[in-house]
Amino acid sequence: NLLSNALKFTEKGTIQVIVKREQVNATEQEKVVFSVKDTGVGIDEEKQKILFKKFSQADPTIARKFGGTGLGLAISKRLVEMMNGHIDFKSEAGKGSEFFFRVPVKRATDEEIQSCELEKNESDETEEIPEISLNILVAEDNQVNQSIIKEVLSGFGWNYQLVNNGKEAIEAAKDDDFDVILMDVMMPVMDGLEATELIKALPEKSKIPIIALTASVTEADLQKVFQVGMDAYIPKPIKIIELKNTILKLISPDRQREVRRKCIDMKEVKKHIDDMELYYQTIIPVFIEDLRNNLSTMEEAIQEGNYEEIAALSHAIKPGCHYAGAVVLAQRIEKIEMLAKMNQPIEKIQLIFEEYKAEAERVLKFLEERSYIHGTKKE
Ligand code: ADP
Repeated sequence: NLLSNALKFTEKGTIQVIVKREQVNATEQEKVVFSVKDTGVGIDEEKQKILFKKFSQADPTIARKFGGTGLGLAISKRLVEMMNGHIDFKSEAGKGSEFFFRVPVKRATDEEIQSCELEKNESDETEEIPEISLNILVAEDNQVNQSIIKEVLSGFGWNYQLVNNGKEAIEAAKDDDFDVILMDVMMPVMDGLEATELIKALPEKSKIPIIALTASVTEADLQKVFQVGMDAYIPKPIKIIELKNTILKLISPDRQREVRRKCIDMKEVKKHIDDMELYYQTIIPVFIEDLRNNLSTMEEAIQEGNYEEIAALSHAIKPGCHYAGAVVLAQRIEKIEMLAKMNQPIEKIQLIFEEYKAEAERVLKFLEERSYIHGTKKE
C-alpha cells in the first residue's frame, strides 16, 4: 500500500524503498525498518493530521476529498501494530513523503535458515531453465511490451531482434535465420496478420513458427490469427512462463532435442529419499567422491578396452546417479553399461563416455555448489 501510494502520488523523481536492520544492543529485540520515500506531491499539514485516522472516521467527505477508499493507511497501521510495530511518516507539501514502519523480529536459528534453504532449493527445481540458444524475432511496437519481452528472452540467454512493425518483420525474417517469431497482432505500417501471411509465403521461411501476441482473445480474433497461419498465441499481458513454454513447444524437433533437462531432478530424488538431511549430508558427499573416482577408473578401462571392467564400473555408479537425482547422467551410464555388455566397438563407448564426462562435470559443479550452501562442503 505504501508503495502504491508513492507511485500514485509521484509524477516525477524517484521512489526509494529501504529495508534495514536496526542496530540494537544485545538485550533488546532486533527490529527491521521499512521505508518508502518519494519525491511526489507530498501531503499538506491539514491532511497529515487525519492520515491514519480514516478507518475510525465515519465522515464520508474525507474519502471523497482525497480519492481512493481512504482505508489503505489505516489498514497498514493496523497490520503493523498487530506485529507489535509502529508506523509513521514525514511529509512536506510539494517535496515528497516518507512512510516508514518498524517491526520487531526474531532472529532465525541456524536450523530455521537451513530448512528455508532446503525448501527454496526444492522449489527451484520445479522451474526448469532450458539450456538452449535460440534466435528470436520480436515484432512489437509498444515500448513497454518490448522491454518486458527483452528482459524475459535475455533472461533465458536467448538472442532476439526487435522490430517495430510487420514490414520490418518481413525484412528481418528474410535477412536472418530465426527459430521463432513473436508477432504483435496490432501494429502500425503493417499489422501482424498481414506480415504473417507474407512470411509464411516465403519458401525458405514458411516453417518458422509464428506466435501471436494479442490483447484480444475473442473467438473471432483467434480465428483470424490461425487463418493467416500463426502457430500459437499468447494473450497479453504476457506471462513469462507462458512465453517460455510456448516458444519451447514450437521450436523444431531438432532444436528441442538440445533442450537439456536440469542435471538434478528433485522429483527423482524424492522417489527414493524422504529425508533431505540425509540427502545433503550423506548421500551427496559420498556420491561426489564416487563419481570422481569412477570418472578416472572408467577412462582407464575404456583406454584398455576392458569391457568387463567398463560394465562393472557402470553398474556400480548407476544407483548413486538415481539417488542423487542425476537423471541424464543415469541414462548415459546405463547406455555405456549396455554397450559394454554387448561388446560394441570401443569407439562407440568412447563417444558416449565423452557425453557422460561432460554431464558429470555439470552434475559435480551443481552439487558442489549446493552442498556448500548446506554446509557440508569439505575442502
Ligand atoms: P487511498 O490511497 O485509497 O486513498 P490511503 O489511506 O492509502 O488510501 O491514503 C490516504 C491518502 O493519503 C491518499 O489519498 C493521499 O491523499 C495521501 N497519501 C498517502 N500516501 C501518500 C504519498 N506517498 N504522497 C502523497 N499523498 C499520500
